[in-house]
Amino acid sequence: MQISEVMAAHGHEQVVFVADPDTGIRAVIAIHSTALGPSLGGIRFWHYPDDGAAIADALRLAEAMSLKAAAAGLRQGGGKAVVQWTDPTRPRTPEQLAVLGHAIDELGGRYLAAEDVGATTADMDGIAAVTPWVTGVSESLGGSGDPSPTTAFGVWAGMRAAAQERWGSTTLADRHVVIQGAGKVGSGLARSLLADGARVSVSDVDPARVSALVAELGVAVVAPEDAVIAECDILAPCALGEVVNPSTVGSLRCEIICGGANNQLASDDMDDALAARGILYAPDFVVNAGGILNIAEEFVGYSHDRALAATARIEDTTARVFALGREWSLPPGRAAERMARERIEREPFGRGRWEPGDPAPWTDGRPMTGVRPGS
Ligand code: NAD
Repeated sequence: MQISEVMAAHGHEQVVFVADPDTGIRAVIAIHSTALGPSLGGIRFWHYPDDGAAIADALRLAEAMSLKAAAAGLRQGGGKAVVQWTDPTRPRTPEQLAVLGHAIDELGGRYLAAEDVGATTADMDGIAAVTPWVTGVSESLGGSGDPSPTTAFGVWAGMRAAAQERWGSTTLADRHVVIQGAGKVGSGLARSLLADGARVSVSDVDPARVSALVAELGVAVVAPEDAVIAECDILAPCALGEVVNPSTVGSLRCEIICGGANNQLASDDMDDALAARGILYAPDFVVNAGGILNIAEEFVGYSHDRALAATARIEDTTARVFALGREWSLPPGRAAERMARERIEREPFGRGRWEPGDPAPWTDGRPMTGVRPGS
């Protein structure tokens, strides 16, 4: 892979490599765009086969964050950090988090870190000890804590819009939803759906997570290898990406796909393939924006109510994507991408550096607070 060519083709602004011999930290921070405001995106701790795979993932995820922020109406750009992490059960040391924190700090607010797969609130707290440019910090330290419940709420809101589009009513009662991934987002979604009167089945490669949800909610269970192709009204991918790919798309037996996982389509043409099969796809980066809407609030003084109100609007945004798709004769994924890119071009704030206390570019001039080092 020619990194600079990929960056130029996709409009990435900057990539930073971190390799610290003392702590063993190896990371890539990719900033796709700060055109709408500081780039915001999670830190993923994951075992990549090689540097190329890690860089490719960071670049792809950072661009997706730009689209997500733009579609959600945020004055923020897209960034992502990935950290080579071989053993998911081993927590980070304070020294390792400090190395990451210093690398983030040197970007001067151009990249705002957050939680992603493999990361915890404790990681964000450790990073906050050295830089204010981190979100998802513990509530006791002035942060907003785990964004997952808000993400799950947003997916549920997007699902209502998809139900309206598909069946002419937002109600999810009596619909059968298969949730792939009984993690933080999947379990929150299951609770909301059951409260609506939906029938829920869950699937996870981790039997402990399935058992916990069965014990709590009494949901049905689907084997991991059957989840994507299970017969249901709605498939909700809430695990990892690329569930819709050339080998699964012909076997799907759902009417709607709407879930929290990032990058659900393995390639853009899967959007067309789903449309051709008559399956309605609620674009992942539109419906899973609750997490960033929640953490974006941290920089202007966190308000859970304001975050929930913004996240509830995902229902309208999703409905708008479907309407634009009809107007532009595009499948929903491509329509959402065009909508987001048009906004980035229409409303550039200007690429820059930010300081805590600056007027926040994505609010009406309210100052950014940030979580101060050591606070
Ligand atoms: P999580 O780690 O809590 O849960 C993911 C679950 O998926 C785990 O229980 C894991 O065992 C399971 N899983 C992995 N592969 C699987 C497979 N093949 N079949 C079934 N289960 C499988 O993560 P999360 O925070 O719930 O995030 C889930 C997805 O949503 C991720 O793709 C993440 O990037 C995305 N997302 C999360 C947030 C958030 O706020 N947490 C926000 C936006 C997007």
